[in-house]
Amino acid sequence: MTFTAPADPLGGGPPPSAEPRAPLRRTLALARPAAGRLTLATVLGGCAAAAAIGLLATSAWLISRASEQPPILTLTVAIVGVRFFGISRGVFRYGERVVGHDAALRLLADLRVSVYRRLERLAPAGLPAFRSGDLLARLVGDVDTMQDLLLRVVPAYAIALVVGAATVGLVTWLLPAAGAVLLAALLAAALAVPALTAALARRSEARQAPARGELAAAVVDLLQGAPDLVANGAVAAQRARVARLDDELTVVAAATSRNAGVGSGLTAVLGGAAVWGALAVGIPAVADGRLDGVALAVVVLTPLAAFELVAGLPMAAQSLERVRQAAARVFAVLDAPEPVVEPAVAAALPAAPDGHTMVVRGLRARYRDDAGWALDGVDLDLPPGRRVAVVGPSGAGKSTLAAVLLRFLPYAQGSVTLDGVELATLDGDTVRGVVGLAAQDAHVFDTTLEENLRLARRSATADELRAALAAARLLAWVDGLPEGLGTAVGEHGSRLSGGQRQRLALARVVLAGAPVLVLDEPAEHLDTTTADALTADLLDVTRGRTTLVITHRLTGLDQVDEVVVLDGGRVRERGTHADLVAGGGWYAEQWHRERETEEVAWARR
Ligand code: ADP
Repeated sequence: MTFTAPADPLGGGPPPSAEPRAPLRRTLALARPAAGRLTLATVLGGCAAAAAIGLLATSAWLISRASEQPPILTLTVAIVGVRFFGISRGVFRYGERVVGHDAALRLLADLRVSVYRRLERLAPAGLPAFRSGDLLARLVGDVDTMQDLLLRVVPAYAIALVVGAATVGLVTWLLPAAGAVLLAALLAAALAVPALTAALARRSEARQAPARGELAAAVVDLLQGAPDLVANGAVAAQRARVARLDDELTVVAAATSRNAGVGSGLTAVLGGAAVWGALAVGIPAVADGRLDGVALAVVVLTPLAAFELVAGLPMAAQSLERVRQAAARVFAVLDAPEPVVEPAVAAALPAAPDGHTMVVRGLRARYRDDAGWALDGVDLDLPPGRRVAVVGPSGAGKSTLAAVLLRFLPYAQGSVTLDGVELATLDGDTVRGVVGLAAQDAHVFDTTLEENLRLARRSATADELRAALAAARLLAWVDGLPEGLGTAVGEHGSRLSGGQRQRLALARVVLAGAPVLVLDEPAEHLDTTTADALTADLLDVTRGRTTLVITHRLTGLDQVDEVVVLDGGRVRERGTHADLVAGGGWYAEQWHRERETEEVAWARR
């Protein structure tokens, strides 16, 4: 199944003007591709329930009739019936589970993939709306919960309706009054009890999915932020927060169980009442000859089996609210507006045998329509082989510029062209095939050095891997490791130093071989010596390559062709390093401050 067609229930979300479809109806719409399997599972489940009732009714008749000690031949059909119902019940139940779970697991897999795809489109500009732990809870727990609608709720009601009606029909045929008693008891158990438990459960069930999301987010925060929390003595507070959220979830779970208990208890009481009711109307019927004595056992015992049909309904009704909440949370991810709208018909890039050119004119971009301009009239020229550094105070718009060039963020005004083609008319992946990014906090995966590198290019040869490592000045270190490229780097590269992590990210970009490089603060979070060594290597590797480097350190910028100083989204100064130092503006001041700090540091050594 595809999730990209606009008619698809998952794709793109509702148009802004349309009434958002109810989460439950959308979940059902999702099941359309598996409708055949789910129907088959429901039919098999219905057959299993019917066999269970048939088993009890036939056994009741058999035992009752056998007590009259008739010729054994008159019992043969009933004996065969008992065997048939006994064996077929198990077979039908098995079939129902296999077919139903197969359908549900396929749907789950499809749904997870579509959530992943959505995340890919939302990242990185659209994701800050969700916290990572909460996203994980949506992807795992909530998607799981959604399958309850298809596996438990809808089949349970369908089977109860059809098989229940048939059972009431059978009992009514034997004794209409007993049929009426059974119908009344089943209706009360199927409608009134679930309505009661659902009403009791509404508040706690509605809290369950958000509470689970909040707990997951808090635990992820606690684990990821452990070093900072320990350093600041804030572990106890964060642990207390996790404990509080856990308590809340426990309260919700306890309420769920309590309501389930109330539902089961009431259903059992109604089941007992149905049996007593059948006895109450059956005995006089036998006395005045309206009912055969043998059939009395059937009339009285069949309700016992029939109540299995409705025993699960209070839980099903209760989980409906949970499914609604979970589905709403999953659809919120699927419907989150894409930060960048891909063109309906993407333009093609012309061949660029002499290298790619990016030209930016009067660029204005912002994150929301009601926010101020993050970039306000920026011009930039990146012809083949040119290297430009973008510097400026924090919040100046440097990362925003990188996001626009990579088509992670749309631009509202002005133009950005790649080889003469407007960026907005190009597919995002086409742009990123040409423009490569080494991000500020490049993610290092918990696997080996080699796998982390190959992420950039699966098919790279051993020599190409080595060349990329050499370019990032990592080769000698890797060769010195006992396991070389097979060394595991730990979670988030925790077994690497900050500099090694960034160098690994650099090697990755080199290996990817994108013709235009955007390096966003590669030396951020590193001490000045490591930062300057890394910057020097970067400038070495990128010689002759079209590169935009964003940096907060000015050391080494004498090597780039142009330095652009951004401030408040506008270009304040631009020129070569020497021009800007001579110009006496922000850059010159920053440069002298950096030198002074360095000299103090030298003097201390
Ligand atoms: P720099 O990289 O120079 O530190 P940024 O480009 O990150 O600056 O930020 C420029 C402006 O855009 C800032 O005012 C910042 O608050 C805002 N901004 C950055 N990222 C986002 C975002 N994801 N959502 C909303 N505003 C943002």
